[in-house]
Amino acid sequence: TSLATELQSRMRDVPDFPRPGIVFKDITPVLADPVLFQRLIHAMAEPFREQRITKVIGVEARGFILGAPVALALNAGFVPARKPGKLPHRTVAERYSLEYGSDGLEMHHDAVLSGERAIIVDDVLATGGTAEATAKLLAQVGGELVGFSFLIALGFLDGVKRLGAQRVHSLITL
Ligand code: 5GP
Repeated sequence: TSLATELQSRMRDVPDFPRPGIVFKDITPVLADPVLFQRLIHAMAEPFREQRITKVIGVEARGFILGAPVALALNAGFVPARKPGKLPHRTVAERYSLEYGSDGLEMHHDAVLSGERAIIVDDVLATGGTAEATAKLLAQVGGELVGFSFLIALGFLDGVKRLGAQRVHSLITL
């Protein structure tokens, strides 16, 4: 079986989480399987192997779990993009709108240097708001965005279009 098929069969759909009406993709069964986890990380890193990536930015919180091993696979450093108030040193910040209200992300101002080649990693791409805010953090510090790597792209590809289809890699599109 293909990796995409295997991943899809091992993710759980959780109805009404975290709110009524939302069907949440639970990726934890994939992470708990050592063979599948390793294949997943290899596949998420693959499109960027020859791209001289020096930083991988992972988005809190599942982007940390996937981004750190992807960084190691690319011989790159790992940079966390975190919810407001979590990072201890001086940060750059972005706010983005959600279905209801807004949220924010921060990154240490010196975590990526001007001109460094970086990718952004997260588990799920939905509207693209989170990933777009992360790309703006990278732009604020002058990093070069080479692309995005997601496990799943959801939602009729609106998020993919928003981020620029040619830069977006995902193992599964639903
Ligand atoms: P977006 O900003 O693209 O609308 O939403 C993407 C963010 O929400 C990502 O950080 C992702 O982890 C989270 N997210 C949205 N829907 C799901 C889901 O069904 N499953 C998981 N695991 N994360 C989700």
